[in-house]
Amino acid sequence: MDLSYAPAEERFRSQLRAWLQANPPGPEPEALDAWVAYGKDWQRRLYEGGWCGVSWPAEYGGRGASLIEQIIFQEEMARARSPQLINLAGLTMGGPVLIAHGSEAQKRRHLPRILSAEEIWCQGFSEPNAGSDLAALKTRAVLDGDHFIVNGQKVWTSFARYADWCMLLVRTDPTAAKHRGITFLLVDMHSPGITVRPLKQISGDEDFNEVFFADVRVPRDQVVGAVNHGWEIAITTLMHERQTLTFSRQLQSRVALEGLLGLARQWPTAEAPLARRPLARQQLAAAYIDSEAMRYTALRNLTRVLRGGIPGPEGSLEKLFWSEMYQRMLESAVALTGPFGQLVAGSPHAVDDGRWPHLMLYSRGRTIAAGSSEIQRSIIAERVLGLPRA
Ligand SMILES: Cc1cc2nc3c(=O)[nH]c(=O)nc-3n(C[C@H](O)[C@H](O)[C@H](O)COP(=O)(O)OP(=O)(O)OC[C@H]3O[C@@H](n4cnc5c(N)ncnc54)[C@H](O)[C@@H]3O)c2cc1C
Repeated sequence: MDLSYAPAEERFRSQLRAWLQANPPGPEPEALDAWVAYGKDWQRRLYEGGWCGVSWPAEYGGRGASLIEQIIFQEEMARARSPQLINLAGLTMGGPVLIAHGSEAQKRRHLPRILSAEEIWCQGFSEPNAGSDLAALKTRAVLDGDHFIVNGQKVWTSFARYADWCMLLVRTDPTAAKHRGITFLLVDMHSPGITVRPLKQISGDEDFNEVFFADVRVPRDQVVGAVNHGWEIAITTLMHERQTLTFSRQLQSRVALEGLLGLARQWPTAEAPLARRPLARQQLAAAYIDSEAMRYTALRNLTRVLRGGIPGPEGSLEKLFWSEMYQRMLESAVALTGPFGQLVAGSPHAVDDGRWPHLMLYSRGRTIAAGSSEIQRSIIAERVLGLPRA
C-alpha cells in the first residue's frame, strides 16, 4: 500500500482546500425543511465552483477524478466540516447509472440537474415485503400505448418528500422468474397519482417515506436499459452505492469523531474537561482506533481496485465495520456526557444543542440501510471466507 501522493494529486488537494476555505459550507440547520434548503444551496455552490461529481467524466460535468482524487475530495470535505451532499441518491446512484446505461437524451436531461441539485432524486427500491430480498418486489407496471401505468407501494424512500425524480423498480412481467421481468423506470415525482407519506423515525426526523402509486402514467422512454432487464441495472446501482459511499461514510464518522474530541477537551469546563477522565480517554482512544482501522481497511480495498481488481464482496467488511463502529462512537458520546448528553435540541442544558443523542438515534438505521449487518455477515461468510451456505 503506497500512502504518498503524486504532485498532481497534491495540486488537486490544495486547489480544493483553497476553494473550501473561501467558500465554507457554514453551520447546518437542525430542522429538515431548513436543512434541505441549505443542502441545495451548498451543493449548487460546489457545482458552480466545479467541485460536484468530481469522479464523473468531464463531458458530463465532472472532473474525471481518479480514485485517489476522490479520496482527497472526501478528506478535504471532512476537514471543511461539509455535510453529506443533499442529492446523495442522484450523485452516487442515479447519475452513475445513467452514465453507464442511460440514453443520450436521458443523460442530457438529467445529469446537469443532478449535479446542481436543481432536481433531487430518490431511490424507490424497497417495499413492505421486499427489502433484503429485493427481487420479491411487487409494484406493477403495465404498458398502455406509449406509457406504463404504475400501481403499488414503496417504503423507506429517503427524501421522497423533497424528490423530483425517483429510480423506480417495477415488475413488468409477473410470469417470469423472480429476478427477471423487473424494469428500471425514471419517474417524475410530481406525476398525478403519487402520494408520499412521511414516516417519523426514532430520531424525530421525517426523511423516510412511504410512496404510493395509483395509476401513475410514466412515458415509455423513461425506461433505463431494456424492459424486463431492470435487475442488472439495479445491481449496478447498488454496486455504485456501496463503492462510492465508503469514503463519504468515512467523512461522516470522521467529522463526528473530530467533534467529539473537541467536546471532550472543553466539556463540562476547560479546567476539568471530560478528556482528563480515564474512562472517557479509553473510549475516545477506542473510537479513534476504530476510525483508523476503517480508514486502512478502505485504503486496502482501494489498493486492490487500483491494481486492476474490481470492487468485490470485501466491500461488505467496510459497510459492516463502519456502521457498527459509528454506532459505538455515538453511544459513547451520549454515555460520556451523562444526563445532559441525553437532552434533545432546544433543551436549555443540552450538550451541543442535542447533536449527540440525535446522531446516535439516527445511526441506528446504518446497520440496516444498504444491506443489513446480517446480510453483510452472510456475504462475508460465503463469498469472502468461502464457507458453505447456511
Ligand atoms: C436509513 C435508511 C435509509 C433507507 N433508504 C432507502 C431508500 O432511499 N430507498 C429504498 O428503496 N430503501 C431504503 N431503505 C431500506 C433498506 O434498503 C431496507 O431497510 C433493507 O434492505 C432491509 O430490508 P427490510 O427493512 O425490508 O428488512 P428485512 O429484509 O425484512 O429484514 C428484517 C430482518 O431480518 C434479517 N434478514 C432478512 N433476510 C435475512 C437473511 N437471508 N439472513 C439473515 N437475516 C436476514 C435482516 O438482517 C433484518 O434484521 C433505507 C433503510 C434505512 C435504514
